[in-house]
Amino acid sequence: MTPIQHNLQQIRERISAAAARCGRDPAEITLLAVSKTKPASAVEEAAAAGQLAFGENYVQEGVDKIQALNNSALAWHFIGPLQSNKSRLVAENFAWCHTVDRLKIAARLNEQRPADLPPLNVLIQINISDEQSKSGIMLAALPDLAREIAQLPRLTLRGLMAIPAPEADYQHQLAVCRRMAAAFSELKKSYASVDTLSLGMSDDMDAAIEAGTTMVRIGTAIFGARDYGATN
Ligand SMILES: *Cc1c(COP(=O)(O)O)cnc(C)c1O
Repeated sequence: MTPIQHNLQQIRERISAAAARCGRDPAEITLLAVSKTKPASAVEEAAAAGQLAFGENYVQEGVDKIQALNNSALAWHFIGPLQSNKSRLVAENFAWCHTVDRLKIAARLNEQRPADLPPLNVLIQINISDEQSKSGIMLAALPDLAREIAQLPRLTLRGLMAIPAPEADYQHQLAVCRRMAAAFSELKKSYASVDTLSLGMSDDMDAAIEAGTTMVRIGTAIFGARDYGATN
């Protein structure tokens, strides 16, 4: 077993243990392996161990890996901040976009999604706890944006995503995650397509699972530390 495969097994065990503690079925929780800055060979190694969902933050880097691996069994999720001028690459290459936070970008993705691909799965990013952050919308703006996105035929509204501000205390993490889970439950009542809450990273995964997340995003604990100084 390679280190990546060993790490994957450990993360899956951690997810199962956290789910068991709160009486949830671990099968309800998808592990998104965040492969940003890591080579295509690392993705291949994880895929060989049964990991099929991968998250990328940087559009061009993600597209390069998607095209290099050319494996239709893999589901690629764009999870980084999205600029309008990069939306076409996301629409043409990814299966999911987690970071939709305005109608303008949703409309572009809708227009640019190729006709021969299924609709792009989108999550609306919520700014749940970090007032400083420019990413995500406030919860008060969710009903209007959801209604507009639901009308776009080449997108499927699947749910919500958030990156809560780092918080060491479990009870505080849980409180924030519960606010997201409540918004998710509310949204589900209005849209049959909504089934995904992308919430929980290495440090707050257990709280996110207790609150009801359906997708956790884990990078370093699977692939090792990232080296942003590397130039290759
Ligand atoms: C990088 C990243 C992750 C994974 O972070 P790690 O600390 O490597 O586990 C999860 N979600 C988003 C949005 C990210 O950018």
